[in-house]
Amino acid sequence: MLDIIHHGGATGVTGSCHQLILNSEHSLLIDCGLFQGEDAEKDSFAQLQIEFDISTVQALIITHVHIDHVGRLPYLLAAGFKGPIICSEPSAKLLPLVIEDALKIGFTRNAQLIQRFQEQLKQQIVSVPYGKWHRVAHNTIGTARIKLKRAGHILGSCYVEVACQAAETNEKERIVFSGDLGAPHAPLLPAPKSPHCCDQLVLESTYGNRTHPDRRQRRAVLRKAIEQALANGGTVMVPAFSIGRTQELLYELEGIIHEAKNHQWSTLEIIVDSPLAARFTKVYRELKPYWDDEAQKRLTRGRHPLNFASLYTVESHTEHEQTVEYLAKTGRPAVVIAASGMCAGGRIMNYLKAMLGDARHQVLFVGYQGAGTPGRAIQQYGQGGWVEIDGQRIDINAGVTSISGYSAHADQRDLLNFVKRMRRWPHTIRLVHGDQTARETLKSELESLYKRKGMRVTIMS
Ligand SMILES: [Zn+2]
Repeated sequence: MLDIIHHGGATGVTGSCHQLILNSEHSLLIDCGLFQGEDAEKDSFAQLQIEFDISTVQALIITHVHIDHVGRLPYLLAAGFKGPIICSEPSAKLLPLVIEDALKIGFTRNAQLIQRFQEQLKQQIVSVPYGKWHRVAHNTIGTARIKLKRAGHILGSCYVEVACQAAETNEKERIVFSGDLGAPHAPLLPAPKSPHCCDQLVLESTYGNRTHPDRRQRRAVLRKAIEQALANGGTVMVPAFSIGRTQELLYELEGIIHEAKNHQWSTLEIIVDSPLAARFTKVYRELKPYWDDEAQKRLTRGRHPLNFASLYTVESHTEHEQTVEYLAKTGRPAVVIAASGMCAGGRIMNYLKAMLGDARHQVLFVGYQGAGTPGRAIQQYGQGGWVEIDGQRIDINAGVTSISGYSAHADQRDLLNFVKRMRRWPHTIRLVHGDQTARETLKSELESLYKRKGMRVTIMS
């Protein structure tokens, strides 16, 4: 059995980085993510450095472009990694945008340096079509091939199948790295299909102990929030991350507005107040061939799911300030999507400061709120409570709602199905990318699944 070293993302949900040891001189790296939130150490500089030997790494394979899976790429390049960076075709389009942003935030503001990095990155990116085998190592000791399959998490996301064959013994082993798996019925993306088989499975477990409400329930909550905004002349503030969730939400909003066919609904403005989210939305639009069947149907009917008439993008900071003031004063019903997703900085803060005190407005959380963030405080204390923003105490009179299903992660049932639907189940499962409770719960669920089948499994968590 081939060894796998987890350099990150094994005990927490961020910093994903796994090294598959093919032999003493060859290895593959799967993801190279940034540690965030509680996983990040105080002395983060040391944590960011690539502290392991990269001389054996034949290739880096990227499962998707979320920062907790690709954010340490600049450090990997700085450490001298010259090998191919393999990813799906949509990821190859999204990755340079993500890295540019990551460089600006955490690495350097020097435009020349950023440019150099980007050029190097573009030279090393190798995009591989979904479902096709691609050879990553071939030498006297053996061969390793990889195949990327759709993971339904964000556009371009994949899970990775690695097929290894030792030259001398002809011994074969198949390893699957799940990356982040999406939930079925996610807007825009087709659901992931399980691989045929594997020997070892590295499985994410973010929601290993939870079940999401279904899409219909989520849409109902979203619809209700909008109806309230229309009735009160209020704004629905949605703190959201740039990639994935924002586009899913826009897609759902277009659907809800289209169904309503009501004149009042056409007065509703949908505002994306984040230049970065707007850039990602643009690339999402260019990647239509990768959308799912439902989205394709909307297109053939002449609809524009990510570019509809009432959608506005706010670019400059002046424009942003004007929008905050305009919405706070006019009572024009609107939905505003702005970063950061956990209200820990970004443009959403100005909206919150201007509108939390007014009962006409609402905050709608569509993602996980980390402990210690203002987002968590608003979610926890809700209407009638208060929150401290920039040292200022702000009373919460606005409504507060949370929808948990837009996180684009498979829940417990989906994770179990991923294993169940394989023809031949893995004998070893390594649970990663989940907190301890999630991993332990999923572990016991998987164990009883195997037991019922009378099969043995080793689960490392
Ligand atoms: Zn992700």
